Amino acid sequence: MRTRRSLLDLDDLGTEEFEEIFARTAAFESKPPERRLAGIACVNIFFEPSTRTFTSFNLAELRLGADVVNLTPTDLSYLHKGETIEDTIVTLSAMGIGVLVVRHPEEGFPKSVAMNFDGHVINAGDGTHAHPTQALLDLYTMLEEFGSLRERVVAIVGDVLHSRVAHSLIAGLRRLGAQTVLVGPEAFVPEEYAGEGVRIERSFDAVLGSADVILLLRIQRERFVSMPISDEEYKRRYCLDEKRLARVRDATIVMHPGPYNRGTELADCVLAFAGWRYAKQVLHGISVRMAVLDLLINGS
Ligand code: ASP
Repeated sequence: MRTRRSLLDLDDLGTEEFEEIFARTAAFESKPPERRLAGIACVNIFFEPSTRTFTSFNLAELRLGADVVNLTPTDLSYLHKGETIEDTIVTLSAMGIGVLVVRHPEEGFPKSVAMNFDGHVINAGDGTHAHPTQALLDLYTMLEEFGSLRERVVAIVGDVLHSRVAHSLIAGLRRLGAQTVLVGPEAFVPEEYAGEGVRIERSFDAVLGSADVILLLRIQRERFVSMPISDEEYKRRYCLDEKRLARVRDATIVMHPGPYNRGTELADCVLAFAGWRYAKQVLHGISVRMAVLDLLINGS
């Protein structure tokens, strides 16, 4: 086993490894996988709520034949009995655990875990920082649709500032040559995000007819104290409602990492739109995570 190879953000992967992950994802989707993680223990520790990421990591590990343990904050001695997190991680290392999948509200927490752990750490979302496997499944969903993302226009709409999904995805889109447009008010999309392959647009209406992909984000209310613009104004300017949807081209796909809030970032009609790809994203989430686990454990 290759030791200490972790996935904390997308820059831990070379571009050829992106391709390798996407190829393995496609292979796992067309043929039931072998038990490529037989004998490997995977421990999932989620300090924040999660439905999609938690379930799909579990399924990915089980389908690859791994031994799976789930720990919640209530199970962890270090939060209740005075042990340090470092000593907890050393303990899990001593058990020969192969993979730790970690979600935590603090930016950098998975990285600090990786420093004390002998196996592989996968960041399942750390605060506002990064969510690499979500970015990979989103990229895979777009690639499945368009073949290549070179010069494709991807509009990411909403609370970019607090979104770890957006932060990882922007880096991935830049790597694959897409034209990213960040859409939102200044408070959620500060000017500093503009750069190579990334521009900012304050008006959602201005991108509706030109975007190949519209990826909507949830407002990350748990990550700030007060809403910088009123809910009413946000909905008026950024909700993908019936009127806006009517202006979206038929070939455009609409995505959301979930959980989505009806009536805020999207209206019910979006869920019936032919280009709504949410279910595909969720499904690809399992196979992309299988591909990541397989790459970390079994190598290229
Ligand atoms: N599920 C994603 C995350 O954990 C997106 C969200 O919560 O809005 O970051």
